Amino acid sequence: MSKNIFKNDKFKKTRGGYSRMLSVCCAKCNEHICDYQKDGPGNLRRMYFDRIFKPKVSVSKKDLSCSKGHILGVKIIYDKENRPAFRLFVDSVKKKIIKSK
Ligand SMILES: [Zn+2]
Repeated sequence: MSKNIFKNDKFKKTRGGYSRMLSVCCAKCNEHICDYQKDGPGNLRRMYFDRIFKPKVSVSKKDLSCSKGHILGVKIIYDKENRPAFRLFVDSVKKKIIKSK
């Protein structure tokens, strides 16, 4: 049996209880940024800090950017859940589903 790599908490439950693990890359230069657990349906518009896995770039700055300096998003606090996240710019990243559950 493979290990469940997904986080399972109230945030996931409020989004329907299923998730996909995405490989997230810079859309301009294809650099791998991180893996990301996307909970529930819909487009990837925010990346919550607690769902970012194996980041290849700094996530402690106020912008999210790849190592070549392409800016992908800005840090926000998602009000409804008081949860820090990066709000992604439209078409700034490419993503590929690695795993779903
Ligand atoms: Zn880039």
